[in-house]
Amino acid sequence: MAEKAHEIRLKSRPVGMPKAENFELAEVTLSEPKDGEVLVHNMWMSVDPYMRGRMYDRPSYVPPFQIGEALQGGAIGRVVKSNDTRFKSGDLVESMLGWRDAFVGPAAPLTKLPATNAPPQAYLGVLGMPGMTAYTSFHRIGDPKPGDTVFVSGAAGAVGSAVCQIAKIRGCTVVASAGSDEKLAWLKSLGVDQTVNYKKGNLLESVRAAAPNGIDIYFDNVGGEHLEVALEVARPFARFVECGMISIYNDEAPAPGPRNMAYVVGKRIKMQGFIVIDFMDMREQFFKEMTEWVLGGRIKSEETVENGIANAPKAFLNLFTGANTGKMLVKLD
Ligand code: NDP
Repeated sequence: MAEKAHEIRLKSRPVGMPKAENFELAEVTLSEPKDGEVLVHNMWMSVDPYMRGRMYDRPSYVPPFQIGEALQGGAIGRVVKSNDTRFKSGDLVESMLGWRDAFVGPAAPLTKLPATNAPPQAYLGVLGMPGMTAYTSFHRIGDPKPGDTVFVSGAAGAVGSAVCQIAKIRGCTVVASAGSDEKLAWLKSLGVDQTVNYKKGNLLESVRAAAPNGIDIYFDNVGGEHLEVALEVARPFARFVECGMISIYNDEAPAPGPRNMAYVVGKRIKMQGFIVIDFMDMREQFFKEMTEWVLGGRIKSEETVENGIANAPKAFLNLFTGANTGKMLVKLD
């Protein structure tokens, strides 16, 4: 009998903060894999802040999601049937066909997971796209030197927590901002030097107190007020790694820019945005070094897990309320 699968489709484009009604769960019937195709049962899928950008109908570095179609994103699954010589039943594979619990599709775009002792879902987090984002951009744009002071916003998330720990390995002093005292306690346990709860008190005063001599690197996951504060406390020749600006992803009207951009000139700040695929030349280096650090216990990671495909929209929405510590994942089997 033909196998049934479930997928999450975009029902309508969110305006402002996305809501559960913007998504719908649908059942589909899977066909038998043809030549060069495989049947995969997904075990884990990733929800990521960048997916919010694909819900707008506007040109970007990736095409927009289409209404009525299944969403896409990173997933780890197990090959159940294979009609392709590169894969056999039981292989663990990474695909961009998340947001569904199973699929039949071409084998060519799938990647076999490396044989390590890391759990498979680590390849959606610290050893996957978020880890690579942290590793590559922090080194390439941040250009860390021992003794530098690094300010990280969104520090308890997937990318931020990896940046904090890489910065410590590189001999930097780390000031981390996150949205709850529990997250700050976890960051301290990872070796972060100073923490700031951006939901309490005055952010500029808190960061000034945490970094009295200023900052050399700002790793920006948040934008908005955090960026303005970082400009204020930056030392001359500081580097700003512009990774993301989650605080403005749901804004209905453009947010006012930092009022103190003029510091970029006087302080000779180097500010660069990037998309992780810009640094594919560092992929092997990332895998090698990060795998050693993770398996050797020098870099720790945390996961926040929702269960079942029906809860995937909830997991995604929760990224914007700070419900996750570390990588937000959906467990599917
Ligand atoms: P996270 O795991 O960090 O999850 C999102 C976190 O953002 C939440 O837990 C929440 O933590 C924080 N947050 C949500 N809303 C706000 C807000 N209004 N102000 C401040 N903090 C907020 O996600 P990722 O690690 O996957 O991504 C982090 C950033 O990196 C995002 O901006 C993302 O778009 C970007 N990114 C960029 C890539 C690139 O190639 N340039 C690739 C991958 C990610 P809290 O409780 O602290 O508020």
